[in-house]
Amino acid sequence: MTGYRSDVPENWFVDPVNLGVPGVRRAEVDEDSALAWQTDALCSQTDPEAFFPEKGGSTRDAKRICSSCDVRGECLEYALGNDERFGIWGGLSERERRKLKRQAG
Ligand code: SF4
Repeated sequence: MTGYRSDVPENWFVDPVNLGVPGVRRAEVDEDSALAWQTDALCSQTDPEAFFPEKGGSTRDAKRICSSCDVRGECLEYALGNDERFGIWGGLSERERRKLKRQAG
């Protein structure tokens, strides 16, 4: 029997985690993975777009969500460690993370 979906390309779905959207739950994340903390990410229950605002767009909503997130520390550490350039991570914008790095370095 031929599968009725055989014409759907296998790559039609792009996993947002692979694109670097923070906090999007991935079922097969293993506990030791550098991204394991993302399973507790509060932003996985919200609109990821708030975390990647257009240039000059508001970061307020994303930051408010980060402020109640359990894995904020892990998230920020990951972003700093991996030089994440875009988006809100751990409650900080790109510019704020750059500033933090300068202060730390
Ligand atoms: S700190 Fe913010 S960006 Fe990071 S996982 Fe939590 S809600 Fe998402």
